[in-house]
Amino acid sequence: MRKRLIVSAASALSLFLAVPASATDFQPGAAGVGDSYYPTYGNGGYRVSHYDIRLKYQPATDELEGTTTILATATENLSRFNLDFALNVQEVRVNGRPATFATSGEQELEITLARPLAKGSQATVVVRYKGVPSTVKKYGFTAWLRTPDGAVAAGEPESAWWWFPSNDHPSDKATFDVSVQVPDGNQVISNGVLTGATSQAGWTRYSWRENKPQATYLATLAVGKFDVTTDTTPSGLPVYNAYSKDLGENSDAAKASVERTGELVDWLSGYFGDYPFSSVGGYVPNVKTGFALETQTRVFYSPRQFARGTNTSVVVHELAHQWYGDSVSVSRWSDIWLNEGFARYAQFLWSEHENEGTAQELADYVYASHPADDAFWSVKPGDPGAADQFSNAVYDRGAVAIQALRNAVGDDAFFRILKGWPAEHRYGNATVQDFQAYAEKISGKKLGDLFTTWLFTAAKPATGPAPAGAAAAASLAPGADAGRADGQLPVEPKSWKKIQETNSLHDAEH
Ligand SMILES: [Zn+2]
Repeated sequence: MRKRLIVSAASALSLFLAVPASATDFQPGAAGVGDSYYPTYGNGGYRVSHYDIRLKYQPATDELEGTTTILATATENLSRFNLDFALNVQEVRVNGRPATFATSGEQELEITLARPLAKGSQATVVVRYKGVPSTVKKYGFTAWLRTPDGAVAAGEPESAWWWFPSNDHPSDKATFDVSVQVPDGNQVISNGVLTGATSQAGWTRYSWRENKPQATYLATLAVGKFDVTTDTTPSGLPVYNAYSKDLGENSDAAKASVERTGELVDWLSGYFGDYPFSSVGGYVPNVKTGFALETQTRVFYSPRQFARGTNTSVVVHELAHQWYGDSVSVSRWSDIWLNEGFARYAQFLWSEHENEGTAQELADYVYASHPADDAFWSVKPGDPGAADQFSNAVYDRGAVAIQALRNAVGDDAFFRILKGWPAEHRYGNATVQDFQAYAEKISGKKLGDLFTTWLFTAAKPATGPAPAGAAAAASLAPGADAGRADGQLPVEPKSWKKIQETNSLHDAEH
């Protein structure tokens, strides 16, 4: 609503101020897109349609150099605009002309235009740069993960700054070409489809293309020595998986999980509709981190996800994000429930499929196992705050909220919502409020109270997720805390431990 007001105010202004542009009409673009959680992330004044990232990387020394070309359109009259970036910049050109540049804050690259950009005009921005990303710390950390044989860029919300300049916010999605030269014998993994790998003078260039809009944090890069498997799913989708050659004891469990990607993506299509991208797969580099990340079409997994054996649950979680998070992305980081609530709920559905506990049993278990004074309930999944953006509550309470929705609207409407939403907003962005409106439209029910109770109230809901009058609700709520005191917690669903193991999913390293 606020967005709509701003747009109409702007068009009203342009009607009344239809005067010839003078130099004073051109202003610097904002240093952020206006995200309340991360005020400096992304930038104002332009939109990006494409990134062409062309790099050379030396694994032995972690030296990265190259050029990123950005195709952008000005949304305001610009005298200057910002990119988000952390490495040292040598040169910037805009539409062929050298531009002056300066850094400010933690990750702002301010580009002053030799010739101002009028609203609506196209800009080709070329940034030449180099650095040693693992040594560059922003806000006290680097999202560039070194491995024994190379490096990985994966992190949320920050990971782009260490390898390409960007408008780093999920509200500005673009297609990507990523082409990286590495010494012969090394491989490069990125998003989408591998379009070429050619060797010359001791260096091999790998070229990847993601031809569907992608948020900047979902772009990934890995360099190292990998075992690669390729295949097509039963429905004909190309699969590309990669495993570091030095995963040791975790290697077989990783493969026994990630090799099921094709099967699981087809299974998820039954709930979420057609898979939105042109390829799928995952990679497991030899990193020390514990998290996994839904990098578009090519999921990043830490080996630790498989340290206790196979984990298909985490694969289901990350693949569910391809619909809920990647194709339909958050408009603001406060909308994170649209990603994590649904990816966690997909794990509930997988548990049900595997006869390891129904979604209802899992939801009842979450509800009963957190007493009312547990800090768990103080987090509002619908607006958790930056500090709690990836807290357990966003996942677990978020998934219980979805079970509560299912009970409120009934299975028929619920599964139509689950499948219809990714089609409604394919390749776009949406808010929690958009989702509520969509669920109300499909179900014909007013859901304001339900969303307020489960997503926007910092307290344990008085009754559990089961439908009113159901046996589970009667036994668990509102006396669930008393039940706990009496040792009457419901039996732990068999899938519960695996589901919880994925809770280090987005553990940032900071
Ligand atoms: Zn997730």
